[in-house]
Amino acid sequence: MYHTLVIGGGCLGAATAVSIQRKLNELGKGEKVALVDKAVLCAAESSRHSGIVRSANADPDASQMASISSKMWKDLKPHWGIDMEVDEFGAIWIAKKNSDGTNPAWTDLSERMKKINLVFEEIGSKSALNKCGSTLITDEDESYFYEPDAFQLDPSILRSVLYDALEENGVELFEKTEVETIVSKGNEILSCLTNNGNFKAKNFVNATGAWSSQLFSKIGLKIPVTIEPVSVVNWMESPKQIKYEYPIIADYINLCYFRSWRGNKMHAHQPRKRSVYEIAKSFINDLTAVNGGEYLNEPMNQSLAYNQIKNYEDISKKRFSNIDKTVYASGYRSFFDITPDLRFILGKDSKINNLFHNLGSGQAMKYSPVLGEAVAEEIVGEENLTKKFDYKKFNINRFGDDYMKDFWNLVNGEENTLHRQGKNAL
Ligand SMILES: Cc1cc2nc3c(=O)[nH]c(=O)nc-3n(C[C@H](O)[C@H](O)[C@H](O)COP(=O)(O)OP(=O)(O)OC[C@H]3O[C@@H](n4cnc5c(N)ncnc54)[C@H](O)[C@@H]3O)c2cc1C
Repeated sequence: MYHTLVIGGGCLGAATAVSIQRKLNELGKGEKVALVDKAVLCAAESSRHSGIVRSANADPDASQMASISSKMWKDLKPHWGIDMEVDEFGAIWIAKKNSDGTNPAWTDLSERMKKINLVFEEIGSKSALNKCGSTLITDEDESYFYEPDAFQLDPSILRSVLYDALEENGVELFEKTEVETIVSKGNEILSCLTNNGNFKAKNFVNATGAWSSQLFSKIGLKIPVTIEPVSVVNWMESPKQIKYEYPIIADYINLCYFRSWRGNKMHAHQPRKRSVYEIAKSFINDLTAVNGGEYLNEPMNQSLAYNQIKNYEDISKKRFSNIDKTVYASGYRSFFDITPDLRFILGKDSKINNLFHNLGSGQAMKYSPVLGEAVAEEIVGEENLTKKFDYKKFNINRFGDDYMKDFWNLVNGEENTLHRQGKNAL
């Protein structure tokens, strides 16, 4: 009997397993954590991300968590038992100015970030050009904010570090082990049946990301997670034009994130869509694509179509003057796992007493050490990190039936429907 079975070996599942096992090791009772993945470690979203770690965020809890997480990444040994290399290149955020030449939303954000000792400061276009070089296209209608402590990490290095951390701390890892059936009685899960045997545990962690809703619907739980497809493109670059040590560009005008990649590549992907309507579209599409995360593993979905590459090329040309003279190196399709409010689902389930969730909602790699530690604290009954931010607000209990009803009403955009227009006409 394990102390905890973590289902899903992405960065969140692995981080949770490591944090719980370290706490159990300190207690010295010899209790063990098992981590199962139906494929291999980081088989899904966790190997297809951009490795960007930025902390400034409109949500105060998210920025607090991200800034704690950034510190943990940079000094990982006390938390995971091993260190990891990161590239500290900073990030430049770009947005359109208002007609009066100001950007009050980001100026406010900058002020709020100061209160948690996070530098997010406005810089001029000249300073942006100094940091990036002359291939960056700037415009006087744009504002530039600099976050010097932002950094990037290489997804393949992260993957190796996770394997090492699991081993270092004594987590039992079972790859190619798929949870097929969840055996429950009343409000408790008893065990998980896999192709590799029956796993009994006292606690269970759901870290299956995009697969969560399908897997847990088997025991009658509704976990509101779906996928939003996204493409990624890498261009071959010349080190003479874009050096490896290039700041991350978070371009909110052209809706694209850019970062330099090892081997002098420029990497681009679009952010999650943030309107309720777009989020709802992803939930509706899921009804016809019930395979959820399998979408990513389907070879047919891995390669990019010409128009997707072209679309990114068009976007990139608006930001970099040299993109038309560069070479397409590689690209792939991936997805964000998203929730209706684009926030994490963390902690104890509202129906099953020994089930805990750790889901990222599309942008969670950077939070892995914090989310792993927070969920571990709840499971072993500690409260250190979880006192530093509003952990409870991320609980699944916020998505009750009423929430989902309101969500769909919002999405219906009643004022735009014939139904409502007809009613108004009357
Ligand atoms: C293009 C792109 C760029 C991104 N860039 C960034 C970034 O710069 N910074 C950032 O912080 N985040 C980024 N993200 C988001 C980040 O990648 C994810 O939030 C994170 O990887 C989610 O990790 P996870 O462990 O929750 O999920 P996953 O990595 O998807 O892990 C879920 C795991 O569960 C396993 N599983 C599923 N069902 C079962 C089952 N029945 N039994 C056993 N195992 C099962 C799967 O095999 C999978 O390995 C990006 C995402 C994308 C798509």
